[in-house]
Amino acid sequence: MSAVLLLHGLPLYIFSALLGLVVGSFANVCAYRMPRKKSVVSPPSSCPRCGNRIKAYDNIPVVSYLLLLGKCRNCGERISPIYPLVELANALLYVGAAWKYGATPSLLFYFVFLTALLVITLIDFEFQEIPDELTLPGTALGIIAGWLLLPDPFLRAHSLGIKASLTGAAAGFSIYYLIAMASKGGMGGGDIKMMAMVGAVTGWKGVLLTTFTGSLVGSVAGLYIVVFKGGGRKTKIPFGPFLALGALICILFGQEIAGWYLHRGNI
Ligand SMILES: [Zn+2]
Repeated sequence: MSAVLLLHGLPLYIFSALLGLVVGSFANVCAYRMPRKKSVVSPPSSCPRCGNRIKAYDNIPVVSYLLLLGKCRNCGERISPIYPLVELANALLYVGAAWKYGATPSLLFYFVFLTALLVITLIDFEFQEIPDELTLPGTALGIIAGWLLLPDPFLRAHSLGIKASLTGAAAGFSIYYLIAMASKGGMGGGDIKMMAMVGAVTGWKGVLLTTFTGSLVGSVAGLYIVVFKGGGRKTKIPFGPFLALGALICILFGQEIAGWYLHRGNI
């Protein structure tokens, strides 16, 4: 941790990008194995078609995909471009967090948190579920981080603190519990626990902003699906990815949004 704290400027961004690629590769493993109830640590990755173990030199994030032209070295099975895209996305998230928070202890927490949001997004898209294995330890870890090291995302000079973290978790849980009751299945238990986790990290204001931006983007996406993809009103759209996006916007731009909101009278 102390090594990271010495970095700033370009070296910090390069470190964040490289770490983001490597952890992004692990995020792919988690997103594939967690919903299938498999261990995320063993066995090592293998080709789903021929079972050939993927060698370390063929497992370099993004680079290996390009060198292998997106195919298994052994059997030629096509590897989904989603994998390198997830690695790149995770690297981008890490650089974004480093840009906003610099080399602080909270940056290391945001790295973990943002990757958890990415894995939730992938799993919810594919299975319409959000695993408790991510949201429950995520909430506990979020409360500890909120207590000890996180800044308030809306007032970055101030720390979040245990009270705001607990209130945020309670707000996320109870608001989404009520929405789940009212929507009769449209919003699930996974979303409730996910928002407890988001609230622990961003406070109750973060729950509101995440809900606002998540619903806004979610409605636009829903409308697009109904109009252009022929989906009906019954088409099930996972909400977790939109909440993840809302939480990301809150963490990266909460301060700017709060500033704009407070000073909009002066425009
Ligand atoms: Zn193969």
